[in-house]
Amino acid sequence: MMSPGERAHELHALLHRYAHRYYVLDDPEVSDAEYDRLFRELQALEAEHPALLTPDSPTQRVGGAVLDGFTKVRHAVPMLSIRTETDVEDTGAANFDARVRRELGLKEGDAPVTYTAELKFDGLAINLRYENGQLVQAATRGDGEVGEDVTQNIRGIGQIPLRLPAGCPPVLEVRGEAYMKRADFDALNERQREKIAAGQKNEKTYVNPRNAAAGAVRQLDPAISRQRPLSFFAYGWGEVTPVERGGPDFQTQFKALLTLKSWGFPVASRTQTCVGASELVAFHRAVGAERPGLGYDIDGVVYKVDSLALQKQLGFVTREPRWAVAHKYAAQEEQTTVLAIEVQVGRTGKLTPVAKLAPVFVGGTTVSNATLHNEDEVRRKDVRVGDTVVIRRAGDVIPEVVATLLEKRPEGAPLFSMPRHCPVCGSDAVREEGEADYRCTGGLFCGAQRKEAILHFAGRRAVEIEGLGDKLVEQMVDAGIVRTLPDLYRLGFTALVNLERMAEKSAQNLVSSLQKSKQTTLPRFLFGLGIRHVGEATAKDLARHFGGLDRIMDASVEQLLEVPDVGPIVADSLHTFFQQPHNREVVEQLRACGLSWAEGEPAERATLPLAGQTFVITGTLPTLDRDAAKDLLEAAGAKVAGSVSKKTSYLVAGEAAGSKLDKARELGVTVLDEAGMLAMLGRTNGDVG
Ligand code: NAD
Repeated sequence: MMSPGERAHELHALLHRYAHRYYVLDDPEVSDAEYDRLFRELQALEAEHPALLTPDSPTQRVGGAVLDGFTKVRHAVPMLSIRTETDVEDTGAANFDARVRRELGLKEGDAPVTYTAELKFDGLAINLRYENGQLVQAATRGDGEVGEDVTQNIRGIGQIPLRLPAGCPPVLEVRGEAYMKRADFDALNERQREKIAAGQKNEKTYVNPRNAAAGAVRQLDPAISRQRPLSFFAYGWGEVTPVERGGPDFQTQFKALLTLKSWGFPVASRTQTCVGASELVAFHRAVGAERPGLGYDIDGVVYKVDSLALQKQLGFVTREPRWAVAHKYAAQEEQTTVLAIEVQVGRTGKLTPVAKLAPVFVGGTTVSNATLHNEDEVRRKDVRVGDTVVIRRAGDVIPEVVATLLEKRPEGAPLFSMPRHCPVCGSDAVREEGEADYRCTGGLFCGAQRKEAILHFAGRRAVEIEGLGDKLVEQMVDAGIVRTLPDLYRLGFTALVNLERMAEKSAQNLVSSLQKSKQTTLPRFLFGLGIRHVGEATAKDLARHFGGLDRIMDASVEQLLEVPDVGPIVADSLHTFFQQPHNREVVEQLRACGLSWAEGEPAERATLPLAGQTFVITGTLPTLDRDAAKDLLEAAGAKVAGSVSKKTSYLVAGEAAGSKLDKARELGVTVLDEAGMLAMLGRTNGDVG
């Protein structure tokens, strides 16, 4: 076991290192929650063994050092930190109120203390100095005494006034937080990923908006800084011309903020006064619920004693005022390791990669899975098994991986690739052009898609099994009595009536509607199979074209493409579906169960006289209306299109033909009149009808 002294020494070293990475390099090595844990451990050690408390302890210092390259700014009034209340429950607010009352010597019966409650923005503190109404300097907090001159970069934040209205104090320092909105952060990281993908060295993505904001403010090149949209909220002040020399008479925190607002500084609208601990608790709870929807990150709320006279009376300890506290929320981000990347199959066959994580407490719950959405997303974030990742869980949103800490990647961690077979049923998994997702093509057989497949098949527009709704399907599949569609037809009355909450009458009804559904039509059956991209209309086209199911199942992609309105995506989908032996087996079994329909002859479109020709009709024809002409052409195997293009074979032009005729002439398309068209069809004007 390590002695307390050894542990304190170790914590010093760790916290110094992490603080340097965080404050100076804007590139944290560990999550805030991890840093806070170690910080608290050191505080507790120092409280227990006061001899271990040295002036250079991380618990005694504010922030970090000044980065080389920036001009140093000595603050006229030090910029401090805020004591953190780590008890994220209601008691956190009560503890603070109790402490304030004790320090002010208030008794139980005395009036409650009034506070200003503010949001604790997660960005970085900036001091804005105005002299005679002009912004003359903007500085970071640095170590609290000396910060960095970032005036050029801060000037780029549109919300910050460069000039103050007349009547403002001759010297005014406004303090607030420079931060980045979530949407701006996401867009920035997206741009950074594109740069990295394009091979630009020295570019990186940011772990969170705070670090992106700090990186933008502390950017030596103001041109780069300007490309990173920042925002600002004012929450305090530093040096101000004293009242006796014409300065403002600030009495309370809240009124002072209102004054800053009237001078043009953005002050968060979610700022209010609270009387006593109970109102602080209510504020903490209400803001906690609003937090995921704010559009920017906060890691807590801040309570400040409202009266400036009382603030003065309470004073400071080393690095923090006694009159303020930050009441935190459960961290929304934590880091953990990826144990595996599993692929899950959804009800509709969509394959989703999911990171299996070493369990971690984040956003108020223990998280051990995070969705990675799809293959591109995994690649973009470059998540690999063994990686250390930052997990975010905000509100009820599904936990997600926000960043991969590349420096912690174990050697040889393999690049992730999506499986080409469904992990549930082994059927081919395919990704269509222009789509982000892989899908299992074993829709009729796949265990993951069972419920969806049965419901679809039983639907009103498919074979229609009356009385078979989602609750019942859920029950049958969960009870294991139905695994694939044919199982439905093997269910007897006894199996049905034994299901929970199933009355005899309903069981009887279901048996007869199953029986009734066996006599169906080919389009209904085909649509019922739930083949991707095969809707009712396509099912009808297929049935008309091929006449029978076997011809459809055996058709090549080229043959499928001959069907009107069937394009490459539909043809591929159909072909792949019927290539899966399991799907064919299910179809066979359904036929064996007695499902039947009338089959016809294939429409020999290819042998029709005008097959393969495209016609366009324009103007008013002497005897035929448009639809009649169209029907005649289509019956002869032609396609009738709406506009003239290079693919047009003939333009049939009547009276008052306009732009289509011009276009046809321009493209050299043969132009026919009605008589010419009828001649091609082997008819004359007289025998239409
Ligand atoms: P702090 O950020 O917890 O609190 C003080 C700061 O709060 C101020 O400087 C100001 O910038 C900000 N603030 C936001 N809203 C405010 C408001 N309404 N009124 C007043 N101030 C407001 O203290 P800190 O000492 O700057 O930093 C500690 C934080 O930094 C911790 O949350 C810690 O997790 C994190 N940290 C993380 C790492 C890491 O490695 N991940 C390292 C060091 C520090």
